Formats: sequence, structure tokens, C-alpha cells
Amino acid sequence: MSRRERSYRNSEEREQRRTGSKKYKINWVRLGIFILLVLLVVFLSVKCISGCVSKGDSSDPSKGRVKENIADPSTIELKGDEPPAGNDRSIRGIPELKDVLTYDDGDLLALVNKYHGVTRDYKPENMVEVDMSMAAWDGIYIKKEAYDAYAEMFNDAAAQGYTLCVCSGYRTYEYQQELFLQNLESQGEEYTHMFSAYPGRSEHHTGLAIDITSPSMDWALSQDFAEYPEGQWLDEHCQDYGFILRYPKGKEDITGYGYEPWHFRYVGKDVAKEIMSKGITFEEYLGEA
Ligand SMILES: [Zn+2]
Repeated sequence: MSRRERSYRNSEEREQRRTGSKKYKINWVRLGIFILLVLLVVFLSVKCISGCVSKGDSSDPSKGRVKENIADPSTIELKGDEPPAGNDRSIRGIPELKDVLTYDDGDLLALVNKYHGVTRDYKPENMVEVDMSMAAWDGIYIKKEAYDAYAEMFNDAAAQGYTLCVCSGYRTYEYQQELFLQNLESQGEEYTHMFSAYPGRSEHHTGLAIDITSPSMDWALSQDFAEYPEGQWLDEHCQDYGFILRYPKGKEDITGYGYEPWHFRYVGKDVAKEIMSKGITFEEYLGEA
């Protein structure tokens, strides 16, 4: 190899090295751009996927609400029924049922509340219609034991100048559902949670619960009843006839309901006296608080 050739080759090698190092630099730039593009694509993909998911959640209300403890419509059986106009048929915060009563076994201490329900076709045994002289209207049925006790209480109250009046007794599942949806529509979720039982979870399904008002209240149900003579008489004497004030003031966290001075539950005299004298709830008495 001649000197010239060697020189050429050397210059060629230099050029190659120079060009090589130049190519090497260009690759780094390209690689940098490529990495940036990849990162951009990944970022946009993640953003799109999360956007799609949140969009999916909002377009499918039942999916998101399950996490917020929405009762399963197949359990609460509101699905398929016409909700009140303009209202949502579901409601947040309905707890899961622990158990349901399938038939009336005669237990006067059967617990029905937000956690313990009855089946849709549950029907109490031995029910009688409350005589019109003691009720706001006809067609109110309660169990015979509760009826006899109420009749005695009504007569004793009347003898002392107090006029009691039953305005609600046994309710069917369908009727409770109607009441519940009416409340949901007219009063909203918060009120409905505090004062209206979900269908299948009302104590009125047992035939052992009654709502009592008076002509002086214009047959209305309100917390004002506690200030009325009949409401005060009941608060003082109900246990003597086997009834308890089921949803007392200050026990909302235990019963799950607001103060209802009109709602009484028949449990028998001994249990009623113990519960009322101790100032406890039915749940506490049963160890279910
Ligand atoms: Zn009631």
C-alpha cells in the first residue's frame, strides 16, 4: 500500500470515524425524540383509558352506586315498578339485609328493622280489623294480641279523657313500597331514610306495630304529638298494655329512624315494662344494637 493510499485510507477512516461519531450523535437525538414520542403516546393512552372508564361509570349509574352501598334492585324489588314521575328509583345507603322472616311463627319479639326484613309474601297470622270507633278509617288490620291490648289501652285512655286513634297497622310489601316511593319523591332521600322503611323492612309488616294519633292532632302524624295530651299519656302508659315507643328521641343511631312519638310496637307487658323503664330500644333489649 502506497503512502498516498495509506493516507487516503487514514483520511477515509478519519472521515468514517468523524461521520460515525456524527451518526452516533444523530441516533441519540432520534432516540430522544423516539422516547419522547413513546412517552407522549403512553401518556395520551392512559389519559384516554381513564377518561373512558370515568365516562363509562357516569353512563352506568348502577355500576358506580354499588360501591356506595346501593341496595341490589333484585333484592329490593323496585326494578320493574314505575317510580314516581321525575324520580330516581334507587336510593343510596340501604344496608344489606342480615336475614328475612319467611312466615309468622307467633314470636311477639320478632325483630324487623333496617337489617332484618320479611319476604315479599310474608303475612302475619290471626289478624283482626281495628274497629272504626278506635281507628281513623276502616281496613286497618293488626294481630289479635296487639288488638286486644290496644282496645284495653284505648278504653282506659278514653275513661281519662284521652281519645286515641289508630291510623296505620299491618302493611303489605306493596303498600310499603308505595309509601316509600311517595316519601322519596316528596321529601327526598334524607327524610325518607329517617322516617320511611324500605319495603320488606317495615315493622308494620309484622302486624304488631301501630301508628297512633288523635282527633286533636287532626289525625296527623308529627313529632308535635309528643306535646299533645294523648302523646304524653301514651308515653307514660303504653308499657302497661304491652306497647313500647319504638323509635325514641336520642336513639336514632340504634334504631336507624328519627323520633316517632306515634309509632308503637306490641311486645307483651313484661318486655314492654322492662324496655320502657330502662329507657332502652328494642334492639338493645334483644342484644342487636
Ligand atoms: Zn309506624
